[in-house]
Amino acid sequence: MDRLSSHKATKDIVQKHGFRFSKSLGQNFLIDDNVIDRILEGARVSEGDKIIEVGPGIGTLTREMAKKAEKVTAIEIDKNLIPILEETLSDFDNVEVVNEDILKVDIEKLVEEKLSGGPVKLIANLPYYITTPIVMKFLEEDIPVTDIVVMVQKEVADRMNAVPSTKDYGALSVAVQYYCDTEIVAKAPRHMFIPQPNVDSTVIGLHIREEKKYNAENEDIFFKTVKAAFGQRRKTLLNSLSSMGMLDKASVKEVLSDAGIDEKRRGETLSIEEFAHLSNIINERLN
Ligand code: SAM
Repeated sequence: MDRLSSHKATKDIVQKHGFRFSKSLGQNFLIDDNVIDRILEGARVSEGDKIIEVGPGIGTLTREMAKKAEKVTAIEIDKNLIPILEETLSDFDNVEVVNEDILKVDIEKLVEEKLSGGPVKLIANLPYYITTPIVMKFLEEDIPVTDIVVMVQKEVADRMNAVPSTKDYGALSVAVQYYCDTEIVAKAPRHMFIPQPNVDSTVIGLHIREEKKYNAENEDIFFKTVKAAFGQRRKTLLNSLSSMGMLDKASVKEVLSDAGIDEKRRGETLSIEEFAHLSNIINERLN
């Protein structure tokens, strides 16, 4: 069996097993060779790689990663896909399928037990309904992950990749870019999947920096400041930060002045560097 990424190969295997697609589990299977190649290139998949895949589906991407990497651990929630994966992955002794819900998995433990402590890459065509929680779980928890290359809804990729003062720039842009350099790897319009979803997709690469680029002394306060600044997008920073509950309005005025940031600016105009600087001054004020 060669690649599964054609309309016919996917249809054949699905029919053979009497598999029914679940919309609520975000089951849209990729049927484009070129995009698969771009994902592998974007993640620079090579010999020594240990990969975590979320939602292998029928194993289309899994097989191509297994041909190149050292080991792939694939977490699939749908038990109806397990017999299919047993068949499509039977040629590979470096793939392990775990039948679990990714949101309930202790990933640190999984990396320790199944991937000898990492480092790991997260490479996946993610189920859309939980894209952001999965990505944030990998970034915020203590997981030795170096690269995240994932297919997400186009609008989510645009937000992760956005620069200040654009409509897409928001708390998600800051949260992702605080840790990673971002890169658009490939576009995948809806016709590249079966069944066809109602949205277009983009593959985004998030390359986690080894050295910190931004110096937020207290990350908790940094993220609270970001959340408050974007919570009410149309308000000035003076007003949005005053409603965050950490400082009264007079103190916010002083803090913004100390940071050299005009109180009339809106959160969406601040760079991550400015957010870090501002949160450091708020942190000093609170201590
Ligand atoms: N990787 C395949 C491909 O590219 O064709 C399938 C991708 S499909 C968009 C998403 C996959 O994630 C489905 O196989 C679905 O069953 C699985 N999935 C959905 N929710 C999940 C969860 N909470 N944990 C693990 N897998 C999940």
